[in-house]
Amino acid sequence: MSDLETFRAEARAWLEENCPKEMRDGAGGEENICWGGKQWTFQSDAQKTWLERMAAKGWTVPAWPKDYGGGGLSKEEVKVLKEEMRKLKCRSPLESFGIWMLGPALLKYGTHEQKSHFLPPIARGEIRWCQGYSEPNAGSDLASLQCKCEDKGDHWLINGQKVWTSYADQSDWIFVLVRTDPKATKHTGISFILVDMQQDGVSTKPIKLISGKSPFCETFFDDATAPKDYAPGVSAIVGELNKGWDVAKYLLTHEREMISAGGGGLLGGRGMGEVAANEIGLEHGRLSDPLLRAKIAQAEIDGWAFLLTLERMKDEAKAGQGVGANSSMLKYYGTEFNKRRFEILMDIGGSDELEWEGERTKDGKLARSWLRTKANSIEGGTSEVQLNVIAKRILELPGA
Ligand SMILES: Cc1cc2nc3c(=O)[nH]c(=O)nc-3n(C[C@H](O)[C@H](O)[C@H](O)COP(=O)(O)OP(=O)(O)OC[C@H]3O[C@@H](n4cnc5c(N)ncnc54)[C@H](O)[C@@H]3O)c2cc1C
Repeated sequence: MSDLETFRAEARAWLEENCPKEMRDGAGGEENICWGGKQWTFQSDAQKTWLERMAAKGWTVPAWPKDYGGGGLSKEEVKVLKEEMRKLKCRSPLESFGIWMLGPALLKYGTHEQKSHFLPPIARGEIRWCQGYSEPNAGSDLASLQCKCEDKGDHWLINGQKVWTSYADQSDWIFVLVRTDPKATKHTGISFILVDMQQDGVSTKPIKLISGKSPFCETFFDDATAPKDYAPGVSAIVGELNKGWDVAKYLLTHEREMISAGGGGLLGGRGMGEVAANEIGLEHGRLSDPLLRAKIAQAEIDGWAFLLTLERMKDEAKAGQGVGANSSMLKYYGTEFNKRRFEILMDIGGSDELEWEGERTKDGKLARSWLRTKANSIEGGTSEVQLNVIAKRILELPGA
């Protein structure tokens, strides 16, 4: 057996032995995610056990180095592990902004001391992070941000406001973009700082949506502080002072890749054709509505093409070619495709699917997910902004 086949066999045996039965239902969806953190309440003993076992193995973040709480696996091994988890329908043991965004940024820009201090608690699901980028007057034009951070000798003093901070009210720490040099040009003078939210100077106010849910907050910094160093060598600033824009951009490529993966949901759930066949039924082995049939066929083909593109880009990344601006392409297509997919699923269900409460639609489960997809092309940078990046950095169009 090749090394990879041996690894596959071992991983499968370990998963079979250690993944609790309740965690083997393949359940996705926001309501089944384990986010971790100090305020987290486990949905079941099985969810807790599964997280603990995977964290001890380093497999909540299998690609991270072992020294920082990861599994130290190669990219090929990570792929195999994910395939085996999918086969056994294992739920993801942990998801978090620490894993998706801060971790990769720290691995690239952090010092060894910062990595040793901050990464293992993320890998174990002990600390939940949120992202303090957007401000009331700095969304698409993020570099206009004004949140002020002053050098006070042994500590930093932070004043300002962030907005749309996802899950800020449930998070322990926040990574924040702040202006450390107000005299510098727009993209310089910004720093990337790590702030403990358990202090009087940081407060959050949930923004209520029409659905009654509140997935994001306004976040206020009123004389909030961060020490220059959390421990010897553990600076609160990641990367160089006033050069946080580089860290911010790198982190965004990871955020965009992660959001675009939603478009690949095609493989996780049932295909559109299968849903239509079950809901509407077939005549002579096919859907009777030719328009719906054509829409589904085209979307399924486009979905597979997108998945192949994702795979190709992963291989390119494996070969050492960074994803960079391509993440904008993935983000644009993945999120627009995801919106299209949910429009079709709603078409299949018809107006009945809009029922907000009631057993038939499981309290509007599909309708709520359909509405949530509308935010995919806004969060992490809007579709228009991705098109601008593609025009400028990939197509190099004149005047872009
Ligand atoms: C669900 C969700 C979760 C989020 N979570 C977070 C979070 O955790 N942390 C965080 O910091 N932020 C978060 N955001 C904020 C998100 O990053 C911003 O909403 C996004 O960057 C757009 O900024 P804005 O809302 O200020 O819109 P604006 O920038 O005001 O844009 C308004 C409209 O103008 C268009 N536009 C703007 N500039 C251009 C241009 N140059 N060319 C063409 N069109 C343009 C935009 O595409 C958009 O349609 C979240 C947003 C959503 C929807």
